[in-house]
Parts: sequence; structure tokens; C-alpha cells
Amino acid sequence: MEKKPRQPFIPVARSQTIRQKILSLLEGNTFSARDLSAEIGVSEKEIYYHLEHIQKSTDKSSHNFMITPALCKRCNFVFRKRDRLTKPGKCPICRGESIQEPLFTIKKQ
Ligand SMILES: [Zn+2]
Repeated sequence: MEKKPRQPFIPVARSQTIRQKILSLLEGNTFSARDLSAEIGVSEKEIYYHLEHIQKSTDKSSHNFMITPALCKRCNFVFRKRDRLTKPGKCPICRGESIQEPLFTIKKQ
């Protein structure tokens, strides 16, 4: 007979733990998604997922989530208007593929 455990595994709880780790790392420090991925031990893809959530959900009156946009290392084009947080694949100007990753930090007000 299958019996459901009283306290089932809740992915939301795990997400919250990871988000708290990201928040505490970013407070006053600058990280790329790759750095965060190495620190926390989850994939970059998952880091970006959480960062997008943090960007939308953090209380802006107390936490200022700041992004240093991605930069083309070849022509210095800055990806300012990029809505998504992930690193772009190619530069639209010079077609260079050497892109400085976006960097993230949180400043407490
Ligand atoms: Zn470029």
C-alpha cells in the first residue's frame, strides 16, 4: 500500500534555501552566475532562474538588485537593453562571441 509521507519533499523549500544563499552571497558582493553556480553547487541555468525570481520579488525599498550588463570584449558593446539575465551568445555589432558575463550584486539600503 502506498502511503504518502506526512511531510513530502517540497521543491519550493529547496528553492527558498538556494535563494537565501544567493541573497546572502550577493549582499555587498559581486558575482557572475558562474561564480554563484560554483559557490552554491547548482547549475548556472538554475542560478539564472533564481536570479530572475529574486529580481522580481526582492523588496526594492530595502534591497537594490543591481546588474552590470554583459559586455562584448571585442568592441565594448554593452547589452543594456537586455531583459533576460543570461549571458548573450553573440554581439549584435561585431558578431564577436567573446562576451563578458553580466554581474550581479545586491545593495542593502
Ligand atoms: Zn562586439
